[in-house]
Amino acid sequence: MKIAVIGAGISGLAAGRELANAGHEVVVFEKSGGYGGRLATRYAGKNNAEKLDHGVPFFTAKDPEFTKLITELAEKDIVTTWDGTFANRDKDGKISTVEHEDPYYIASDGMNTIGKFLGRNLDVRFNEKVGGLTHIGENRRKKRSWMLNFPTARTESADAVIISAPARQAYAILNTTIDEIETLKMVREIDEVEYESQFTLMLGFDNADLPEWNALDCDDEVISWISNESTKRSGTAKNLVVHTTSDFAKANIDTDAEVIQEAILDRLTDILGGWVALPDWSQFHFWRYSQAVNPLPHDFMEIKGNDTPLALVGSYMNGNTVESAYLSGSRLGQHWVEQFADKK
Ligand SMILES: Cc1cc2nc3c(=O)[nH]c(=O)nc-3n(C[C@H](O)[C@H](O)[C@H](O)COP(=O)(O)OP(=O)(O)OC[C@H]3O[C@@H](n4cnc5c(N)ncnc54)[C@H](O)[C@@H]3O)c2cc1C
Repeated sequence: MKIAVIGAGISGLAAGRELANAGHEVVVFEKSGGYGGRLATRYAGKNNAEKLDHGVPFFTAKDPEFTKLITELAEKDIVTTWDGTFANRDKDGKISTVEHEDPYYIASDGMNTIGKFLGRNLDVRFNEKVGGLTHIGENRRKKRSWMLNFPTARTESADAVIISAPARQAYAILNTTIDEIETLKMVREIDEVEYESQFTLMLGFDNADLPEWNALDCDDEVISWISNESTKRSGTAKNLVVHTTSDFAKANIDTDAEVIQEAILDRLTDILGGWVALPDWSQFHFWRYSQAVNPLPHDFMEIKGNDTPLALVGSYMNGNTVESAYLSGSRLGQHWVEQFADKK
């Protein structure tokens, strides 16, 4: 069976990997230029020599299935624990150390290496944004059930489709096909999913004594989290990644990017001191969909029936984390391996 996966984040790659290992023909279409989605790494600084995790800063693992993947990745030196001190800054500016029971996991060479690993044996096509889907259907003259439409007017056909984009983006894709098939219930349900947003400012300093902590969790109106990226990998210069609160991001969605960066730097100076005011370089990113606020109570969603398989996977299924994304994708993959065992 030819299965098209939309999105090369961890959920889409996990689903694709299960199905390809079972002998299906899997093609992943990814709108950006690289693997990982929100498991993101930015190459920045002089000669782009610095690697900074500007999406998820770390993740945890509870479920045995996800822990198994982490063990596999740790054995290959892709994943390690983020050891050291973590701190919290309360509303009054008091900083204290915080303990955490579960290990904090990071990727030694940048978060996107996890996506690279999961996708290494898959046919992944980058810079391919799927604009819509056409259902060809049961009494079709053409061979396959689905047609994927690209903005260039090019099309690709597939027997089954997995959409692994965040719920809002999955909604936009699914909405192109509701007149043709019973996807309306699905569309209504994912339309309810709300997301936090975040501005992210990456900063590099040639000479600075960075704080001792790995990260500072802030109870603040502007800044929610500061990662000391230099504590993640040796050889890295002095780099910080600063995430704003969702309220600040949503209130400033239409504000000029330079004005936002100045506001973040001003607040950061209040929190960390004057030395942060003049970085040697900086980069800026907006995450419109960072984490779902009201995830859906499913492992995945699918149109049942053998003729026109279509499924939704992603971190907004049963959570809003890297772990929920992986479990959603791998569980759908396992389910389809069983369901379509006779259709390779
Ligand atoms: C700032 C930030 C902080 C976070 N903090 C944490 C945390 O502390 N702990 C934690 O566990 N998780 C955290 N997360 C969330 C975690 O990163 C995500 O839940 C997880 O990585 C999502 O994986 P996914 O596969 O569901 O989606 P994604 O990683 O978003 O992958 C979807 C992919 O689909 C692609 N795509 C979308 N539309 C199309 C289209 N039309 N055509 C082709 N491709 C398309 C996208 O480019 C993307 O690559 C954080 C995320 C962010 C951004």
